[in-house]
Amino acid sequence: MTDYTKCPTHNLHKTWINNTKKAYLYERLSGDKVRCHLCPRQCIIPVNSVGFCKVRKNLSGELYALSYEKAVQITTEFIETEAIFHYRPGANILSLGNFGCNLNCMYCQNWNVSQFQFTSPDWIHTYSSNEVIQRAKKDNIEILSWTYNDPVVWYEYVVDTAKKAREAGLKNLFKSAMYIGQDALTELTKHIDIFAVSIKAIDEDYYTSFTKGDLLPVLSACEYLVKNHPEIHVEISNLVVTDLTNNLESYDKMIDFVLEKLGPEIPIHFTRFHPAYKYNHVPRTPVEDVALARERALERGIKYAYVGNVFDHEGLNTYCPNCKNMLIKRYGLKSTIVDMTGNICNKCGSNILLKH
Ligand code: SF4
Repeated sequence: MTDYTKCPTHNLHKTWINNTKKAYLYERLSGDKVRCHLCPRQCIIPVNSVGFCKVRKNLSGELYALSYEKAVQITTEFIETEAIFHYRPGANILSLGNFGCNLNCMYCQNWNVSQFQFTSPDWIHTYSSNEVIQRAKKDNIEILSWTYNDPVVWYEYVVDTAKKAREAGLKNLFKSAMYIGQDALTELTKHIDIFAVSIKAIDEDYYTSFTKGDLLPVLSACEYLVKNHPEIHVEISNLVVTDLTNNLESYDKMIDFVLEKLGPEIPIHFTRFHPAYKYNHVPRTPVEDVALARERALERGIKYAYVGNVFDHEGLNTYCPNCKNMLIKRYGLKSTIVDMTGNICNKCGSNILLKH
């Protein structure tokens, strides 16, 4: 793992100082320090220092978002890539990733962009909001996906671009661990159409030990979204990590939370992990484990439960919660609607969660 920030010829923070955006959510403190209000970490940052996420810096007593307009390669993908199965199946999305993160999960699947020091300068490109929107329009893509690292730390650029994208007739998908402050979340709900939320585990100690974050703000953000914004589409995913969360207690806590706090209509994806970053000593999550988690979720009353990072499995398909008729068949990331019309199951007439 190369730490690029220690390399004198590739000091990204120095390079970017003249091309940054003043942060939206912070306060000035005495001694030219600032307190960042973007996420629950609430970093207090002295002059010329960065916060935990490494992409927000105090310059002369003001907080700046260093990564504004800077992204890793933009790509076109299917919406299913983001563990979203109930919003326009098969739709193309324009995926936009950035770098830095306000968590530090020891098994991070995108560690070489989420942990800023490992992001090579060669991977970083500059895109204005208008360029992103024009690219989507040119390629007939109707959904921008804010993804890869956690887009919370790209907040100013996401808000500015998502707002313009909406005006241009596009939708916005925000894929996040939702470790975010309430003011930031409230603002995002004005611009984001779809939240793909990754909950790591329903366990405070787990968050502290393996993600360097806290559980409660994540759960509060999920509940806030579902209870206050029915117009926003939400799906939950849970990365099932070998020897950490591939156990019945972990599955049941996740299922309990979704059932009791979000409701049985909210889809949940149990996703396989692959060894990465600082957690390399175990194999990939067995397919049987994510399949078992899915089965328990369905048995206990979740209407739509899936396996993730599996190519060919019945747990990828959507079935009618009432009559079990197969409605959408999936192979890898490809979705085919097989037996429903609009939102209605062709066999029993039940209304199915599907946004178009
Ligand atoms: S967004 Fe970054 S700088 Fe701001 S509080 Fe969170 S970790 Fe700290």
